[in-house]
Amino acid sequence: MREYTGVFGAEPVLADCLVTGAGQLLTMKGGPGPKRGHQARELGILEDAFVASRGGSVVAVGPVRELWKHVKLTDDATVIDARGKVVSPGLVDPHTHLVFAGWRFDEYAERCRGASYLEIAEKGGGILRTVKDTRAASFEELVVRTMGFLDEMLSFGTTTCEAKSGYGLELSAELKQLRVIRHCDMNHPVDLVPTFLGAHAVPVEYRHDRASYVDRVIEMLAPIREMRLATFVDVFCDEGSFNIRESEIILTCARDLGFGLKIHADELAYTGATELGCRLGATSCDHLLKISDEGIRKLSGSNTVAVLLPATSCFLGKVPGLLGRKLLDSGVAVALGTDFNPGTCTAMSLPLCMTLACSLLGFSPEEAFSAVTWNAAYAAGLGGKVGGLLPGFQMDVVIFDSGDYREIPYRFGTNLVDMVIKRGKVVYHRRKNAR
Ligand SMILES: [Zn+2]
Repeated sequence: MREYTGVFGAEPVLADCLVTGAGQLLTMKGGPGPKRGHQARELGILEDAFVASRGGSVVAVGPVRELWKHVKLTDDATVIDARGKVVSPGLVDPHTHLVFAGWRFDEYAERCRGASYLEIAEKGGGILRTVKDTRAASFEELVVRTMGFLDEMLSFGTTTCEAKSGYGLELSAELKQLRVIRHCDMNHPVDLVPTFLGAHAVPVEYRHDRASYVDRVIEMLAPIREMRLATFVDVFCDEGSFNIRESEIILTCARDLGFGLKIHADELAYTGATELGCRLGATSCDHLLKISDEGIRKLSGSNTVAVLLPATSCFLGKVPGLLGRKLLDSGVAVALGTDFNPGTCTAMSLPLCMTLACSLLGFSPEEAFSAVTWNAAYAAGLGGKVGGLLPGFQMDVVIFDSGDYREIPYRFGTNLVDMVIKRGKVVYHRRKNAR
């Protein structure tokens, strides 16, 4: 599990950011490709280690005793003493519904009294209520809110976040959401990966003409592609949402236009969505609570990443048994996301998701770390660029107030993030912020 050799070139390299003295530096060394099987348990840990970067990219990582042989600092370099602490790659959240207006705490109260998700939806609640609120909100209002959410995510160690539209369900409102994502990506340290989720729900005005709404979604794809407003297209393929045939039509058109694919698969009921996602070469299949054995086999034989969202199950009061263990033992590449959204998961902490994955889904702490870094990067289409601390990776770093990585999922509910670095710049420091 532990490695002691650094990664160096022959000549000393120049660095403008140095994090040194780490008690445990999680390089995540592995690959190529997402980690599966025993690889997912290997974090490439260096003890008493440093990581150095220049221009936002890692240039050297290794044991402190070899630091000055290999690294020269620029005059204005940032040097951070992480003595004895856990230093990990910035966390990657591969599944969020980040941009929305309003909350739905009254529905949560009703659910606590026993109302089902479908009952609430039938009374005008659920996704369509957030669609109403989000359509009514201005671009500026949505930007202010989203920037606030991103501040909070950053404080939990998230440095890259996939963000879906899907609360517009008409071109202008979907474009508004995607433009909010683009604006926040450019103006906030957290990098955003935009996903178009026009097929999140059938809007009220198309309730009796689903086929026309599928056509509308397909019509939205080309302008979104032209404006480069989304990297991925996602479909909510489930009972009560879009069926397999509708999902296949939308995703195939998206693939033909050059989008990456994602699919909300087999969450509420088994529909075969995972098999569809694998067949179409989706980057990820997400949720998977009702996945079939055949779906697991398809995932294990593909590069499609399984994204599990344990905070959603927990919030809905459903514990899916040892689903994580089953997928991990079957050789599936697994990532964890928050699913942050106003209906089924209001948490945006990936460390919390790690705890839930360990306590409820059968992950080990090592597998949970791989799932929110290296593998989550693959699920966000950024594999090999973020989610590791190796030469060439982005210098996205979380320093935890802890000497052992296992303490992070263990200290359930406590935020141990001390500092976050994005592309070689300190973007969050808790003790400073707490004054
Ligand atoms: Zn979702």
